[in-house]
Amino acid sequence: MVVRPAVAALALVVLAAAGVRAQEPGPFPAPKAAPAIVTPGRTSADPPSDAIVLFDGKDLSRWRGKDGGAAKWTVRDGYVEVAPGRGDITTADKFGDVQLHIEWATPAVVKGEGQERGNSGVFLMDRYEVQVLDSYDNTTYFHGQAGSVYKQYAPLVNASRKPGEWQTYDIVFHAPRFDEQGKVIDRARVTVLHNGVLIQNNVEIYGLTYNDRPAIYIAHSPAEPLHLQDHGNPMRYRNIWIRRL
Ligand code: MG
Repeated sequence: MVVRPAVAALALVVLAAAGVRAQEPGPFPAPKAAPAIVTPGRTSADPPSDAIVLFDGKDLSRWRGKDGGAAKWTVRDGYVEVAPGRGDITTADKFGDVQLHIEWATPAVVKGEGQERGNSGVFLMDRYEVQVLDSYDNTTYFHGQAGSVYKQYAPLVNASRKPGEWQTYDIVFHAPRFDEQGKVIDRARVTVLHNGVLIQNNVEIYGLTYNDRPAIYIAHSPAEPLHLQDHGNPMRYRNIWIRRL
């Protein structure tokens, strides 16, 4: 069959027009609710109006000890210090997706090496650890240094301050989702800024970290407490606040 050039050209024009139409984005539905009004803190380290203040330097009333009783770390001068041997402390409240601000300092007098120097940890959902460590001039495995997702991701850079100086983590955490059989269908993700520097960029957490086998997910509730680790070092924390997302 001989296709006349004019017909062929017309067909091309029609096809091209259809193609263009198919690629046009549909109209975006207008959001029905106005974004809630939040009054920001005086500085970006101060809690905004919708934050839950977990520790304001005065008491540990929002925290529990390892037996579920009172948290027995030492509060003084606006900070709380790990009391080695008394165990982790855990929030009474439970959380899923969050924005977390937390400040910490490793001991000014340096003791120990590697993982034994200024070790603690921020455990999101009681399980997923953002490592706290004195990583200023301190060698250890890279996915175990400050700001690592422990044994999973090294920080993108080492933004550590000197021992004894206050440091900040600003963490955005997306909780994992599980189906009814307990299979993970949406992994946890975390973004971390260390002293204002991006060190974890929305990384997908592999699950629970083990020392001797690969990480796995074990289904848990959509909300779980936050805990801070007693790793035997007198680490300090202050100004801890969290927002539910
Ligand atoms: Mg730790």
